[in-house]
Amino acid sequence: MKKSVTATLLCTALLCGCMKKTPVSTQSVLCADCGFDTVILLQNIPSDQYAQAEEILRDEFLRYDAMFDIYNEHDGGIYQINAMAGKEPVKTATEVIDVLLKAKEYYTYTDGAFNAAMGSVLQIWHNAREAGLAANKEGKPGEIPDDTVLQEAAAHTGWDSIQIDEEAGTVFISDPDASLDLGGIAKGYAAGKAAQRLAEEGFEQCVLSAGGNVVMLGEKENGKPWRIGIQDPNGSGVLAAVEWTGSGAVVTSGDYERCYTGPDGTRYHHIIDPQTCMPADHCRSVTVCTEDAADADALSTALFVLSVQDGEALLEKWREDHPDSFVEAVWLLEEETDTKMHTTGIGGLHAYWTDGLEGKLDWNK
Ligand code: AMP
Ligand code: MG
Repeated sequence: MKKSVTATLLCTALLCGCMKKTPVSTQSVLCADCGFDTVILLQNIPSDQYAQAEEILRDEFLRYDAMFDIYNEHDGGIYQINAMAGKEPVKTATEVIDVLLKAKEYYTYTDGAFNAAMGSVLQIWHNAREAGLAANKEGKPGEIPDDTVLQEAAAHTGWDSIQIDEEAGTVFISDPDASLDLGGIAKGYAAGKAAQRLAEEGFEQCVLSAGGNVVMLGEKENGKPWRIGIQDPNGSGVLAAVEWTGSGAVVTSGDYERCYTGPDGTRYHHIIDPQTCMPADHCRSVTVCTEDAADADALSTALFVLSVQDGEALLEKWREDHPDSFVEAVWLLEEETDTKMHTTGIGGLHAYWTDGLEGKLDWNK
C-alpha cells in the first residue's frame, strides 16, 4: 500500500501558491502517521480549530486504515476476512460492507477492469515489487512474476466466491485461494468520509489530500477556484492544475507510483490489467473529478486499465446512469490516440480531457 507522498506535497505547493490572499488565521494540518502509508494533508483550516481538525483526521483515517489494511491484522477488517477465506464468515463494520458493495458494483460496471477481488494476483505483484525495489536499490533489476503463476492465481479472482451478508454484517470468501484488495478504492472512500465528518463539524472551506485523493469542501472565501496539481509522470513536478470551484473530488491514478525496474529496463507498476495480469500500459496517468471521492478513486483505477476509447464510453454510461452528478477526466499518454476529446502536448506527453474540464485546466507551459 506504499504510495509516494509526492502527489500530496504537489497539491500542497499548488494550494499554497493560490492561498496567498486567504486570511492568516488559516493553516494546514499534516498527518504523517494516520495510516494508509501516506501523508494526509488538510488545508485552509481556521487556526483556532487546528486541534479539532487534527483529531478528526487521526480518528477517521486510522479507523479506515484498520478496516482496509491487508498487510496487518485488525479485528473484523479485510486482513481477517482474507485470512478466514474458505473457513468462516467474519463479522465486519458496515463501512467495509459499503465499500465491498461499491467495489462489486464497479467490477460489473467496468466489465471486470476494476476488480478488488483480484487479491491473489495483486499479492504476487506486491511481492515482486518489494523484492524488485530491494534489488533496484543495489543496482540490480527486479524480476517479473512467472506468467503461469499469475494465470493460476487469476483463476481465483471471481466475485462469486465473495459472499456479503448485509443483514448479518458478515463477509465470507468461500474460495480459500481468493482474497480482497481494496487498494483501488479505500483511500478515496476514507477521504470522502473524513471530509463528510469535517463538514458535519463545521469545517466549510478546506481541501483534504490523501496520496493522490483530493477532496474539496465548499468554496474559497475569495471566490477563486481550488487548484489541484496533476503530477508529471516523468518527474517530480506538476504538469497542470485542475481549477475547481466548490465541493468535489479529484483523484489520480498513475504509473509512477510504487514501481520497480525489471530486467529489460521496463518499469513495473501497481495497477494491474485483470485481462493480462500485467501492469496496464494504455496511459501514464488518469485524473478523475466527481462529487464522491470513492467513485473518483474506483473510476481513476478503472480508466487507467481501460483504453482511452473504452474509458470514454464508460464515462458516457456513468453520466447517463447518474444524471444528477458529474464525472470528468484527464488522461496523460505517451502516444497520440484517436479521440475527439480536447488535447495538448505537455512535458513530452499527450493530454486528453473531457468537455467539462475545458477551461478548468491550467497547463504549466
Ligand atoms: P489507485 O492508485 O487508486 O489506482 O489504486 C491502485 C491500487 O489498487 C493497487 O495498489 C492495488 O492495490 C489495487 N489494484 C491494482 N489493479 C487493480 C485493478 N485492476 N482493479 C482494482 N484494484 C486494483
Ligand atoms: Mg483508485
